[in-house]
Amino acid sequence: MARILLVEDERAIADTVVYALREEGHAATHCLTAGDALRAADADAFDLAILDVGLPDLGGFALCAKLREGRDLPVIFLTARQEEADRIRGFELGADDYVPKPFSPRELVARVRAVLRRAGGDARAGQAAGFEHDADGLRIRYRGRLLELTRYEYGLLAALLARPGAVLSRAQLMDRVWGDALETGDRTIDTHVKTVRAKLHAIAPDTDPIRTHRGLGYSIDAD
Ligand code: CA
Repeated sequence: MARILLVEDERAIADTVVYALREEGHAATHCLTAGDALRAADADAFDLAILDVGLPDLGGFALCAKLREGRDLPVIFLTARQEEADRIRGFELGADDYVPKPFSPRELVARVRAVLRRAGGDARAGQAAGFEHDADGLRIRYRGRLLELTRYEYGLLAALLARPGAVLSRAQLMDRVWGDALETGDRTIDTHVKTVRAKLHAIAPDTDPIRTHRGLGYSIDAD
């Protein structure tokens, strides 16, 4: 059982999420605005926050920064926005996960479970097998060496590092990293995986931490 703060200004969405979280055995507190959420977070300790990006008073990203002042709080963003820049911004802020609307409550609950499992261990997000992810600086080190990554390579690797050991489908990666970018094609992800692998290989020729799951997608090795 976890204490979860949900900040979502659309009541219908919030109701289904709260219902699904409670079915899973969690205690869910719902706030309609960022202001209410900040007051709730001052009054209670939460294990995880689910934040809508588009809130009426303060955006979800700004709220995330405020909620994390002095707190180690895992965050999942919900967003209706399709801009790739927002997804990157989410990862910049160290989002533990990013769920685009519309989503199924079941899918969100599964993401919550995965984030809580990771947060419960001593390794926080980004601690997969030799990686150090500096989400604030948009930098990823591998075996102590800074990786020179393009924007999409960074997004791809950050998405995989956010869930070590989890298989992410091409559709999930496309959705999280590329959003509605027009220039993407079937080979976009495979091509970027290939260039990221080459950069990792240049640092450590003996390893290949990104795994291909035929017909399913990609994962990165957990420690
Ligand atoms: Ca909203």
